[in-house]
Amino acid sequence: MARITLDNLAHSYLPDPRGEDDYALKQLDHVWQDGEAYALLGASGCGKSTLLNIISGLLQPSRGRILFDDFDVTHAATAERNIAQVFQFPVVYDTMTVRQNLAFPLKNRGASASYIAQRVQTIAAMIGMESVLDRKARGLTADAKQKISLGRGMVREDVNALLFDEPLTVIDPHMKWELRTQLKSLHRDFGHTMIYVTHDQTEALTFADKVVVMHDGRVVQIGTPEDLFERPAHTFVGYFIGSPGMNVIPAKIEGARAYVNGAEIALERGYTALSGKVEIGVRPEFARLSATEGLPVRIRRVEDVGRHKIVRAEFFGHDINIVAAEDENIGSDKTRVAFDPARVNVYANDWLVEGSAA
Ligand code: ADP
Ligand code: MG
Repeated sequence: MARITLDNLAHSYLPDPRGEDDYALKQLDHVWQDGEAYALLGASGCGKSTLLNIISGLLQPSRGRILFDDFDVTHAATAERNIAQVFQFPVVYDTMTVRQNLAFPLKNRGASASYIAQRVQTIAAMIGMESVLDRKARGLTADAKQKISLGRGMVREDVNALLFDEPLTVIDPHMKWELRTQLKSLHRDFGHTMIYVTHDQTEALTFADKVVVMHDGRVVQIGTPEDLFERPAHTFVGYFIGSPGMNVIPAKIEGARAYVNGAEIALERGYTALSGKVEIGVRPEFARLSATEGLPVRIRRVEDVGRHKIVRAEFFGHDINIVAAEDENIGSDKTRVAFDPARVNVYANDWLVEGSAA
């Protein structure tokens, strides 16, 4: 197992990249700790697969280095990196049986027959394919083939890291949950460094200790699900995580006060003069409707989503969302909205500004 360091990494698919826009990965400097389970989360096209393929060695970066512990593997072949990678779509040997497919990575590395037999059995149980071990892969459904691919990815215990690139895309919803649970327990038992790529926030938040959020070729935040919820480092994290996402409202900041259209909102921290695009970000969970407190708001619609209500409202010409309790009575007297000062984040040009104790 290994700690993975991305050092000044960037990648362009173009032979002669000019501006930033020509780079699929812009500038990455990060350390992925040994033995942690990471989810790599971001919208389609943001560079997740590109990064994974650079880590595994399928792709050579245009710039920068990759280290496994202290070894520079930037130019090492995939096999030398000793990594297991599972892709979005199945990669199986059709003419081999399920058993032979699962055994393949172990056989390749010269494992003993008895170890292979035992390990294949364990993995077959994890992916729920014990009863079809002697069937040829040809003729199995895409779903079953993908489970074999996953099994092949998990079969070796001695890998430096396990990389999964949206591996559950073709798996049916119930089995998805089951397999994700298996991957988690595999991580608990063996403590591999794991990177799990997904565009689905629920999948990311339930799988990982740490979530790496990518946006437009950059890592915008690495944090626990709690960090991402409470202190989004970038407005994209605020929008992308949460349901609905964070309210982002243009504002002026003076010291420990924000002004939206001249109306004052108290902040917990103080800020020095900010330039560029300045906004406040408040999660719908930390906004509260009131008859007496806060600033004027106009309720447009109330949606009952079971656990709570989502109030769609207009606030000084901006659309905002407010989460209200399931049993909260939302009468016509609720003409104001109050924000919890400790939960109002400040952003300059989309990046969180820390501020200091006011
Ligand atoms: P993700 O996995 O997050 O959906 P990708 O890493 O596949 O994103 O793609 C990142 C960007 O690089 C996209 O703009 C995509 O079109 C581009 N890209 C991906 N693969 C190639 C390739 N082989 N050649 C050229 N451009 C590519
Ligand atoms: Mg991808």
